[in-house]
Amino acid sequence: APATSSGSGSSAPAPAASGSTSSGGGGGAGTKVGVLLPDTQSSARWESFDRPLLTKAMQDAGLVADVQNAQGDTTKQETIAQAMITSGDKVIILAAINFTVGAQIEAQAKQAGVQVIDYDRLNLGGSADYYVSFDNVKVGEEQGTALVDCVGDKADARIIEVNGDPGDYNATLFKQGYDSVLDKKYAAGWKKVGDQSIPKWDNAVGGTTFEQLLTKAGNKVDGVVAANDGLGNAVITVLKKAGIKAPVTGQDGTVQGIQNILAGDQCVSVYKPVQAEAAAAAKLAIALAKGEDPGVTQTLNDPQGKRDVKSVLLESFPVTLKSNLTKPFDDGALKAADVCKGS
Ligand code: BGC
Repeated sequence: APATSSGSGSSAPAPAASGSTSSGGGGGAGTKVGVLLPDTQSSARWESFDRPLLTKAMQDAGLVADVQNAQGDTTKQETIAQAMITSGDKVIILAAINFTVGAQIEAQAKQAGVQVIDYDRLNLGGSADYYVSFDNVKVGEEQGTALVDCVGDKADARIIEVNGDPGDYNATLFKQGYDSVLDKKYAAGWKKVGDQSIPKWDNAVGGTTFEQLLTKAGNKVDGVVAANDGLGNAVITVLKKAGIKAPVTGQDGTVQGIQNILAGDQCVSVYKPVQAEAAAAAKLAIALAKGEDPGVTQTLNDPQGKRDVKSVLLESFPVTLKSNLTKPFDDGALKAADVCKGS
């Protein structure tokens, strides 16, 4: 495909340009990278962290990022991807709404010779060569371990689990992680009194679902696994309405999650430095656009496609009142003023 770089709009410096910076193709300055984000209702992270940090990371790598959010609409995500492919994007960074549409987008990209990097979510049954994320089983373990600590010495604690979208492989990995911790407690006397997946991670659906689970459990619960901060906040709202105080988990280190921790309403938010995730994706993108081997040696298995995908897996940090509380601020991911204002 011909290069579409117009010469204008390339105000960003191009430190990573490959010597031939003229064409806009082949990884030189101005090479366009498409970034697909899933939605706005499952987590604040995509617009608050991923969009600005990916834009900046691409810019720093001398690339031009075209970031588009599909607002939870799989047809829309596919349409956006097709437009990126036909407009000559060299690489697509894909945070798919679910792995089914993700794999479809990958098949179309592959046919057009466009490289795809699975971003944060591994597309089961897909064909992307690279994946950038965190060790998501460990993220789940961190949630489970923190919850056990927050619930404390209660021999017969009653637990409800509010899981992510089954169409997002991360939700499976998180659950694998927290269940590996909690199953030991269940075997020793704790009781799981509710366990439900939330389609599309929809926070509002999470709240109503939790309300039903709580009623079914006779309004008696001692701890709640909520797979991310958005679901955690929905759970906290329901608990408050019912006049129940119980520790709740989360993840993403969002403003809301940290506020809930500081207020004593949330036990943990697993903070995943998106800055590192965005930087790793940009580094991969530039190598792939230049046709270089990025030298990734770690892999993650796609159990559906029965293949190993080269993976960059970064480190996560459980934030509680006792641990890592200042880390998101020290990293510049959050500003004290945002967390403290109006609460
Ligand atoms: C991400 C989480 C996010 C969730 C909902 C997962 O795939 O890893 O960070 O909270 O999706 O968007």
